[in-house]
Amino acid sequence: MEPQRPVADLAADPRIEPVVKELESLYAEMDRQYDHAAAGYGFSCTGCADNCCLTRFYHHTFLEYIFLRKGFEQLSGRMRAEIKKSAVQYADALRRAQRNGADAPFRMMCPLNREGWCVLYGFRPMICRLHGIPHELEPPGGQRMVFYHGCAAFDSQCGHLPYQSFDRTPFYIRMSGLEQELKQKLGIAEKSKKTVADMLIHDKVPIHAIS
Ligand code: SF4
Repeated sequence: MEPQRPVADLAADPRIEPVVKELESLYAEMDRQYDHAAAGYGFSCTGCADNCCLTRFYHHTFLEYIFLRKGFEQLSGRMRAEIKKSAVQYADALRRAQRNGADAPFRMMCPLNREGWCVLYGFRPMICRLHGIPHELEPPGGQRMVFYHGCAAFDSQCGHLPYQSFDRTPFYIRMSGLEQELKQKLGIAEKSKKTVADMLIHDKVPIHAIS
C-alpha cells in the first residue's frame, strides 16, 4: 500500500509554498476576468434560486484539494465538525443516487454552503469561480475550440445578448502546470477526482517518494 500523508501537513509543507502562491495569483486572475466578463453582460448571481452550489462538481487537482483544506483548518473546531457531518451525508446521498442509477442530475447543497454563503469563499476551487457565464475551451491535443453555454440563470438574464469571448483554456493550462509541479515536489503519482465533500472527508494523500 502507498504511504499516506495527512493533507493538513502538506498544506504547511514549505516545498509547496511557491506553488500555492502561484495558485492564489491564478485564482485572482480568474476572479478578475470573470468579474469583468459578468459586468460586460450585466450578469449577477445575487438571489439566484438555482444555486450552483447544488451542482455536483468534480475537482481534479491535489493542489486545489490541499488549498481548500488549508482554509478548512482555519475554521473553528465546531464548524469543522458540522461541515464534516454534512460532507458525510452528501457523500452517502451521492453514492445512493449513483447506485440507483437516478436519471436526474444529482442536486444537493455543497457541505461548505451555510445559509447561502460559501464559508471558504477565498479557498473555493476553480470551477466554483468560473461557473455561470458562457465560455470557450480548447481541448488538449489542439482540437477545435468548444463553446459552452452559461447557466440557466445566465440564460434567463442575458441569453439574448451577443457572446463575449471568455476563454478558459489559459486557466486550465496554468492549473495543470501547477498540479504537475506540486505532484513532482511531493511525489504524488495518482490522479485526483473529488467532490468538495470527498475533499473534506478524506484526510490523507498517497505519497510514493518523499525526498
Ligand atoms: S466550495 Fe463554496 S462556492 Fe463551491 S460549491 Fe461549495 S459552497 Fe459553493
